[in-house]
Amino acid sequence: MKNFAKSTILKFDDAFEIVMDSARRLGTERVEIDRALNRVLAEDVISDIDIPPFNKSAMDGFACRRADLANELTIIETIPAGSLPEKTIGPNQCAKIMTGAVVPEGADCVIMVEYTESMGDNKIRFTSKDTEDNIRLKGEDIKKGDVVLRAGCKISAQHIAVLASLGCTKPLVALQPRVGIIATGGELVEPDQKPAACQIRNSNGLQLAAQVASAAAIATNYGIAADTQVAIDGMLKKAIAENDVVILSGGVSMGDYDLVRGILRKNNVRLLFEKVAVKPGRPTVFGVSNEGGRNPVFCFGLPGNPVSTFIVFELLVKPFLFKMMGHNFKPNVTHRQLERTITRKKTERDSWLPVVFAGNDKVASIEYHGSAHINALSEADGLLCIPAGVAEIKEGTTVAVRQI
Ligand code: AMP
Ligand code: MG
Repeated sequence: MKNFAKSTILKFDDAFEIVMDSARRLGTERVEIDRALNRVLAEDVISDIDIPPFNKSAMDGFACRRADLANELTIIETIPAGSLPEKTIGPNQCAKIMTGAVVPEGADCVIMVEYTESMGDNKIRFTSKDTEDNIRLKGEDIKKGDVVLRAGCKISAQHIAVLASLGCTKPLVALQPRVGIIATGGELVEPDQKPAACQIRNSNGLQLAAQVASAAAIATNYGIAADTQVAIDGMLKKAIAENDVVILSGGVSMGDYDLVRGILRKNNVRLLFEKVAVKPGRPTVFGVSNEGGRNPVFCFGLPGNPVSTFIVFELLVKPFLFKMMGHNFKPNVTHRQLERTITRKKTERDSWLPVVFAGNDKVASIEYHGSAHINALSEADGLLCIPAGVAEIKEGTTVAVRQI
């Protein structure tokens, strides 16, 4: 890991590297397949069978020999899905067959029922010129012994189908990080309260809990700590004792009541950085607690403005949580042309802006008043990064949009 003076403002990539290098694995558990969605596989899954397990008809029709396609064919049996054929197809013979049924010995193609004509007397005729084989060969999708899914795969619905088809009904998955969330701020009231004239509702607590859930981790919301030593210290101690990761929002800037960094230090949380060259999100803090020889607990102090909290979580915390589960998180990125030129004056930081997909496959910036403007984010399709050092991105430039 690189060493930086604590007061240095880190490039985002350096901060990212420090965070990702710190991630540790938490162990594994088996879960029922119907609870496995979004969990991360902890072992390779190997097939115990060929798939398809037999030569399978892809169509409703007649199984026959390609050499006999010009001739009248006699139907010798009917094969539904789920039954074994009883006869072998000989010259000028066919078996009526259903989609998913076992193709009988002797047949090398299945002609679609739509391209046949009944000649009476249990005979049919092929009415088209040529046909596909319409046979899915045994083992053509998956061979017995193949690694079908790899450790680190985040299980989605299609992976559930593969696991089910292999009989893997209790996959081994990574334990989920437990994440404690603390909202700091003397101005905060819980969302079910009516704020007084000087107050605002705590939106970060629930926002972060939702983001943690979207990263397949387990959130515990500790509620609000007022900007006092006693309130933050008490809640932090409890959260460190009960979680693998603690996220604090607010209180990391330079104001008189921004106490979080000092309180983290007092609790023996070793701060690995305290500032990042990203907008929003400069005062982001990251540290590790090794209290009492237990597993380390990782602490993120995120700036309190809701857009900052959201974006820093997406950029830093989400990939970290997935890495703790052994999954290499990659955001969804699409490339689009910029509809209108974007300019800015200060260029020291990477700057993330909310954008929407416009017509003509383009992308456009939206009205955005800064990091408190959470409803701009709720209307956005994605985030666009203006990298440090860049003052302008011209209309028509193809840009990468990180979908949110
Ligand atoms: P801070 O990072 O504590 O200086 O807070 C920056 C801004 O974010 C202030 O305007 C706060 O009122 C606001 N803020 C802090 N915490 C929250 C929260 N939990 N929910 C919504 N807004 C917050
Ligand atoms: Mg505050």
